[in-house]
Amino acid sequence: MSDTNGLTTDPTDPRLGHGEDKERRPQNEVYLVLSEAERQSGFVRPYRDTYKHTKGEEACQTTTKMNRAISETYAKDPSFYGSTYCVCCGKHLSLKYFQWVEKDGSLGPTVGT
Ligand SMILES: [Zn+2]
Repeated sequence: MSDTNGLTTDPTDPRLGHGEDKERRPQNEVYLVLSEAERQSGFVRPYRDTYKHTKGEEACQTTTKMNRAISETYAKDPSFYGSTYCVCCGKHLSLKYFQWVEKDGSLGPTVGT
């Protein structure tokens, strides 16, 4: 995902995807994020931009890196998203299958908690 394209702050944007995928598919054309002002008003979690698919039957142990605006949205509102994309599986899957990768490379908490 590019750092400059593919983001919207409009939850009614028709290009947004919803929920989890059963079949492989590309990443969504756009992803919803909180506005810059909302994101800069204070994080409730550390800024993290990389997660690893570590749990569930399909756990592939692959890391996926997100762009800054999405990462900041997670840090501002951990429950903002319900699912996320694994670049290896090619699917959006429930956050419960992913763990954050901390700056030192260790595994952190489950994404979305
Ligand atoms: Zn995966």
